Amino acid sequence: MDFSAYNLAQSGAGSLGGCLTLIDSDRLSPANLGRHILGISFLGRNKADGCAEYIRGQLPHLAIESRPLDATAILASLSGDLIIDATGEEPFSIALNHHALSRRPNFPPVLHAWIVGNGGVTQALLCDGPEHGCFKCQKPKLASEPRYRVLRPDSGNELQRNPACGDGLSPFPVSASMSAAALALDLVLAWNSGDLRHRYRTRVLDPDRSFQIKDMNLTPAPEYPACRTRNPRDQQIVEVIALIPDPERIHTRDRVYSFAIRVCV
Ligand SMILES: [Zn+2]
Repeated sequence: MDFSAYNLAQSGAGSLGGCLTLIDSDRLSPANLGRHILGISFLGRNKADGCAEYIRGQLPHLAIESRPLDATAILASLSGDLIIDATGEEPFSIALNHHALSRRPNFPPVLHAWIVGNGGVTQALLCDGPEHGCFKCQKPKLASEPRYRVLRPDSGNELQRNPACGDGLSPFPVSASMSAAALALDLVLAWNSGDLRHRYRTRVLDPDRSFQIKDMNLTPAPEYPACRTRNPRDQQIVEVIALIPDPERIHTRDRVYSFAIRVCV
């Protein structure tokens, strides 16, 4: 969340009457310092609150809000023009995807960004309607490979130790976090400009362990028919948020290397 949130703020999120909202229930720990925009002065602070304070300090003209809450617990209240899920937590992404699909067309587009294979690959997918595949469509079966395999068979995905992190829980370097944030930002800017072109994007950082996948639009997966259905049953909407040239609002939930954001108008 941290890099992505700051990059979005630099791009205008929270300006022109909009608001950038960061959502995260975690507190900053020493293990986070090697890959987080916040430093030691924020140790023990809630990450959403800390990031909002940091961004307000650097870009005081923007409206930045924070919600120190678990995004899973407030799915029903999520709203806006765009929701960015950069939690990197597959169960949450699946839950958010299901929630979004069940409320189409009365739910904003959702952008998922994540890191694969100890930082060897970063990917992002924007889900904005039944014409294209959703998060489940890129990996219809939980225990199987994604439709477009990114990790080479012998690449492994074991956790590694990062000396800068202290507790051995960091499976990837900060460069992977920055790559994921950049990938998400490019998709947000493309979405905001109305020229999305490719909704499913991949950046390979370690070609020895990864396959190169072209940017593309995913087709809905036959194994996940729910993706093709429109379900306007629930009119409950959300708040208003704003973004780049227009007012926007971005909701972010941070977890270790990633962040969850959403932009709404
Ligand atoms: Zn789908």
